[in-house]
Amino acid sequence: MGWGEAAEVIVIILLFGPPGCGKGTQAAFITRRYRFPAVSTGEVLRAEVKAETDLGKAASAIMAAGGLVGDDVINPMVAKRIAQPDCARGFLLDGYPRTVPQAEFLTELLAARGLPKPVAIHIDVPAAAIVARITSRRQCPACGKIYNTISQPPLVEGICDADGTALITRADDTEEVVRKRLRAYEEATGPVIEYYRRDGIHRVDGTRTPTEIRQEIEGLLPPASSAATAQ
Ligand code: AMP
Repeated sequence: MGWGEAAEVIVIILLFGPPGCGKGTQAAFITRRYRFPAVSTGEVLRAEVKAETDLGKAASAIMAAGGLVGDDVINPMVAKRIAQPDCARGFLLDGYPRTVPQAEFLTELLAARGLPKPVAIHIDVPAAAIVARITSRRQCPACGKIYNTISQPPLVEGICDADGTALITRADDTEEVVRKRLRAYEEATGPVIEYYRRDGIHRVDGTRTPTEIRQEIEGLLPPASSAATAQ
């Protein structure tokens, strides 16, 4: 598939993946490469809560309980955000769409604004691998540095390289909590991934190294130079 010769390529990326799949790392790389924003609905909501806006007040209890904020709130919020000038060359959506009605809304919104279909990417990591990854995570309680006993161990077992403090396991990095988070993700996002399958969602094997994942994602996207030179 070619991306055409036009200099002004608008790229819209949807990034899906379970908690712990490395989505944050890949989102950072994509937004650096294209110089456009990552719009995270969770972050927009947290800012509204902090600013104590009406929206924030309505959302805060739902968020605290781990529920989903209503589509009637989220959809206009996204519509407003992606109309901002910094999204003119494209954007990455993180945490949206999270329901099929949100996905349907987004399809109509992009069409109504004459924007291209999004490139949907699913960073797929089996539950067992996520559990292994997260339960082997250790953190320094003093400086916050994160280690992994499998992929990124400290020089001396159980001790922070930077300041010699004994490393700890975070309370929410237990198998039980991780499995609960994964189930919630699967329930909410499974049908949305199914929705995008008809337009060809790209499955990327997230069990490989961040560099390998990055290279595969790069191959799915148009060249950054053409997008970055757009006005
Ligand atoms: P996140 O940082 O993406 O995990 O989002 C934090 C919280 O914000 C979620 O637990 C939901 O309560 C809410 N939220 C974020 N994005 C959405 C969305 N697309 N639809 C509904 N609720 C959302």
